[in-house]
Amino acid sequence: MNLSLTGEGRTALITGGASGIGLGVCRRFAAAGYRVVIADIDAERGVATSQAMTQDGGEVMFVATDVTQPEQVENAVAATLKRWERLDFVFNNAGILETGALIEDLDEAELDRALAVNLKGPFYMCKYAVRAMKMQGGGAILNMASITAEDGSPYFPAYSASKAGVIALTRSLARKVGRYGIRMNCLKPGSIDGTALSQKALQGREPTQRERLGLMAKIPLAQIGRPEDIANFALFLASPLARHIHGSILTIDGGESPGYK
Ligand code: NAD
Repeated sequence: MNLSLTGEGRTALITGGASGIGLGVCRRFAAAGYRVVIADIDAERGVATSQAMTQDGGEVMFVATDVTQPEQVENAVAATLKRWERLDFVFNNAGILETGALIEDLDEAELDRALAVNLKGPFYMCKYAVRAMKMQGGGAILNMASITAEDGSPYFPAYSASKAGVIALTRSLARKVGRYGIRMNCLKPGSIDGTALSQKALQGREPTQRERLGLMAKIPLAQIGRPEDIANFALFLASPLARHIHGSILTIDGGESPGYK
């Protein structure tokens, strides 16, 4: 068995790979030698990103995918198999945050959208990826939750509840798919810096210096996470080095959780 982090001869599909954390993951996997499929709803960014990464020597393909549409998810898996014949790793990373509001002011359309992208999307992808991985004799799937799934977040209840569902999805599927050689795990990050989603939490702006310091004061490591922190962890979890890690909900937050302490 190849006990290294190299992606040589292996294929990874990352949803929401056109920006933010997903982009960091795609770059890291391409640099490690993986053939990378960027599956994202944002075609403009997806095409530009895959072109830039290909120019840098990566083997990268973009497939326009809205994860709320099962037929588009099925197509992303099929396009991967058509081009590279294997699907070794899937990261269900695509996610959105509703506009922050207390429950009294909840917008039902935003609730539906958060559940569709954050929870139903991973359901659909697991369905089609498990089928493909079962046929090829194994693989690894990583789902993206958040520390808010367990800690809660009063201004983002739809987001937090959808991420709690992702944890239950992971645990439910892991009980069965391990028998097919498929490892399934879930990441639970704390605050990650500089993405569109983290800015949305602050009504679309960068945190002020005061807010940054306030956040860092809540984090025992006194630093805010970066997309590359997630990328490095995902690279390990995708690799044979993680062969015995399965059904796990893995926190990566510098010690931030629980935030209500
Ligand atoms: P981001 O907004 O920067 O990136 C999200 C990506 O998902 C974008 O490329 C977007 O186009 C894509 N996307 C949105 N809807 C989609 C859909 N329907 N189908 C396919 N792609 C879609 O956000 P991010 O901060 O990089 O977040 C990535 C993941 O990490 C999310 O699941 C988020 O919940 C999770 N997360 C983020 C943080 C954080 O602090 N940023 C913390 C914990 C967990």
